[in-house]
Amino acid sequence: MLHRPIYLDCHSTTPMDERVLEAMLPYFTEQFGNPSSITHLYGWEAEAAVKKSREILANAIDCSPEEIVFTSGATEANNLAIKGVAEAYFNQGQHIITLETEHRAVLDPCHYLEGLGFEVTLLPVQKDGLINPDELEKAIRPETILVSIMAANNEIGVLQPLKEIGEICHKHQVLFHSDAAQAIGKIPLNVQEMKIDLMSLTAHKVYGPKGIGALYVRRRDPRVRLAAQLHGGGQERGMRSGTLYTPQIVGFAKAVELGIGEMESEGKRQKELRDRLWEQFSQLEGIHLNGHPTQRLSGNLNVSIEKVDGSALLLGLQSVVAVSSGSACSSTETKPSHVLKALGHNDDLAYASLRFGLGRFTTTQEIEQVAQATLATIRSLRQAIVSL
Ligand SMILES: *Cc1c(COP(=O)(O)O)cnc(C)c1O
Repeated sequence: MLHRPIYLDCHSTTPMDERVLEAMLPYFTEQFGNPSSITHLYGWEAEAAVKKSREILANAIDCSPEEIVFTSGATEANNLAIKGVAEAYFNQGQHIITLETEHRAVLDPCHYLEGLGFEVTLLPVQKDGLINPDELEKAIRPETILVSIMAANNEIGVLQPLKEIGEICHKHQVLFHSDAAQAIGKIPLNVQEMKIDLMSLTAHKVYGPKGIGALYVRRRDPRVRLAAQLHGGGQERGMRSGTLYTPQIVGFAKAVELGIGEMESEGKRQKELRDRLWEQFSQLEGIHLNGHPTQRLSGNLNVSIEKVDGSALLLGLQSVVAVSSGSACSSTETKPSHVLKALGHNDDLAYASLRFGLGRFTTTQEIEQVAQATLATIRSLRQAIVSL
């Protein structure tokens, strides 16, 4: 069998939990109906499964089931939230505020809107990756219609102060959207306490299937208006047409339910492993932890390493561990990560960075192995430079 490297790239995607797969299986075969079919048993069965899943998800974030709009994932949910609000509130104002370190699925819809005449303020982050709430408040103008700030960063794992942000937005009567793709099932999320008006979710970062997610859309205090981006059969109260994908929806709800049930114990376990990894790394000179040391996801460790070449480092580790680097590869080019650049790193240091994403199936033994291999690779690369 092909030797497979240890998987520490859980911010990119996670393996599906067997319990999730099991919950999904019946809905591919016997119970395959279209939840919109109201004239027969097949449709009713599927509709019942979707209804139950919607309730589980609503419960998970403290909203009502009608406020959940299923999408193909967080990318689509972000697009629906940002473009949908921009279009619906166009007459009220054309200014949007977001963060420099957002995922491209938030930044790119914002850039797209700029091309249509909207104005976008990109707030900087502090050295620890966190927003300065005072700067947010200062950036709000009478024509601001939306603030979009993520819950947990996908590269450096930092957790933005959602409650504080929600209060500022609420005070100024500006809608607050949060991309919670990395946060759902990992940290508590409550749209009432956090005064969130729109929130993007996805299943595949929390041991669920790929290709399914949701947008939470607040229905009262205030009632959010949203222009649909997909028109057709009128599913999801007209906000997102298309036949609902029952097995994926069932799997999504199961994954979130498991994530919340195991949040405390898993959070603690992963944090111990993560801290162990960092403890080993910090023996080295010239290694930096990226992002706030404690206000971050338990499974995230992101480090920048001086005096090594980023691509040589990745190459050296490839057979041992699957991790991602400090660069964002689009289909055609490799650029240093915009998140690490926002922390003030130069290109070389941004390239020489590693993102470790631990998960539910990461073991102590794996962490020891990865720590040893990483230390050895860094030392030998530095040695090579010295002996040149
Ligand atoms: C993964 C991710 C996305 C994209 O989610 P998909 O469901 O793959 O479309 C968006 N935002 C963040 C923060 C992510 O980590």
